[in-house]
Amino acid sequence: MRVSAVIFVLFFVMSGLDQSKGHQSDIEPRLPMVEPPLETTTQISEVSVQSAGPAIVTLSLPTYIYSGETFHLKGEMIFEGPNIFIGSIEFLDTISPLHVDENGIFEATLGIPVGHKSGEYEIQILVYGLGQKLFRTELVEVRTKPRTEDYIHRTEHMKAITSDSSSLNRELEIRHEYNREYLPVRIGPGQFILPVFGPISTQFGERRVYEDGSYGNHHSGVDFAAKEGTSVISSSQGVVTYIGNLPIRGDSVVIDHGGGVLSGYHHLSETLVSLGQEIMQGQEIGEVGNTGFSTGPHLHWEILLFGVPIDPIQWTTDLFVRQ
Ligand SMILES: [Zn+2]
Repeated sequence: MRVSAVIFVLFFVMSGLDQSKGHQSDIEPRLPMVEPPLETTTQISEVSVQSAGPAIVTLSLPTYIYSGETFHLKGEMIFEGPNIFIGSIEFLDTISPLHVDENGIFEATLGIPVGHKSGEYEIQILVYGLGQKLFRTELVEVRTKPRTEDYIHRTEHMKAITSDSSSLNRELEIRHEYNREYLPVRIGPGQFILPVFGPISTQFGERRVYEDGSYGNHHSGVDFAAKEGTSVISSSQGVVTYIGNLPIRGDSVVIDHGGGVLSGYHHLSETLVSLGQEIMQGQEIGEVGNTGFSTGPHLHWEILLFGVPIDPIQWTTDLFVRQ
């Protein structure tokens, strides 16, 4: 664990020094994505300070979180003299960055995979400074949210897609590729907006059941029913990081919003943006279609947090930004 944390820190520092990669704009270069790692009530804990080294004085995180959801962790530490700190969080066997400012305020936004088992899990906070380090472990309860089933009668074309391992592998490869890097700092407003005008036809996390009784994955986004050609807009400000065709998700646009947050717009009939283009919240990026694994025109909208699909609707009501 310590080795991986050190590697992560080195990685983070070195990535920050490499100015040669990235977009041709004044936006920061993209960082490599760390491996993937949700609210209700908040607990505040106070600790007595025993030494002059860094010590956490307040920590706010939910007492329990539902799988498939996002949560925000925030706290304050005290430390001696001027210093620069780099932080990381280890949770559910994954490491994600912890932002630490010059006053010792630290924050992180984390997501829990939708299929994750319920139970109590350790969340480890690591902060490294020059000659100083801090390590704290807390327990967080993960609860499983009841998810409905979504019955899908596949056409022969759709069956061919789901039984073709090369298509499935190609989908994974492309998704891995656009999840590998991210802009280091969140840009744009914290609150996301819905990307299309239309009723939700499939909620996030629903479990797919096919006509033969077999089960598919949990639904990784939210589906909106809309006519082919309906405008699709960006749910927040960002930079276009992928445009292309995925065997299952069809013609797609993916936008990097910084800080490990990407949004995906799928099954499009038209894409109206270019790779690397800076996009404003609400800007038209494509049109609703029926490409890929789809039973009719609709938009599949995803939000990925460090590569983990989490419920996008939560991002239209909650503010997951540093405050
Ligand atoms: Zn969908």
